[in-house]
Amino acid sequence: MNKGILLSGGLDSIALAYLIRPDIAFTIDYGQKPAKTEISVSDKICKLLNIHHEVITVDCTCLGSGDLSNNKTLAIAPSTEWWPYRNQLLITLACMKGIAMDISELALGSVKTDSFHKDGTNSFYDKINDLMQYQEGNIKVTCPSIHMMSTELITMSKVPMEILLWGHSCHTANIPCGICPGCLKHLRVKQDLGLDIESSENQ
Ligand SMILES: [Zn+2]
Repeated sequence: MNKGILLSGGLDSIALAYLIRPDIAFTIDYGQKPAKTEISVSDKICKLLNIHHEVITVDCTCLGSGDLSNNKTLAIAPSTEWWPYRNQLLITLACMKGIAMDISELALGSVKTDSFHKDGTNSFYDKINDLMQYQEGNIKVTCPSIHMMSTELITMSKVPMEILLWGHSCHTANIPCGICPGCLKHLRVKQDLGLDIESSENQ
């Protein structure tokens, strides 16, 4: 049986991949704007960590909302980067591929600050784990970092900075825009870790 992870190429999922060393990492191009860079960063990380990288492409462009898509943000969205039912979509797609690759577990790297959307909460992970374990395949869905801040996860993982800094967090583009919530979080985490000396000095 194999252990899988959802790897977006952001700081949190890189740190979790380093911590748990899965057999397979799934990166999904569901039509999000930064997909190309998420895939290339994840591919680099998998080569460095000797993890099998599996890319799944399913075009859900017309179903998106907000920053990651070309559609306007739905009124119900808790934030501009929210994409409806995203995590259950990604978990389902990874498990659809993973069931044929003999995975027994799929881990995700959501952290405490992701709980502003329902599919980034502990309660969501309990429910989706129940559902995926109920179905054929009996795949366990875990989120080991759900009670941690990004900096706690990164520190605990002991991921070397030369690996972590490959991370790409921009929601809107393949080259970091510097102003979206993903870029701002990326910058804040780097500053908290004492890694972004240049921008700290400019403040
Ligand atoms: Zn950005």
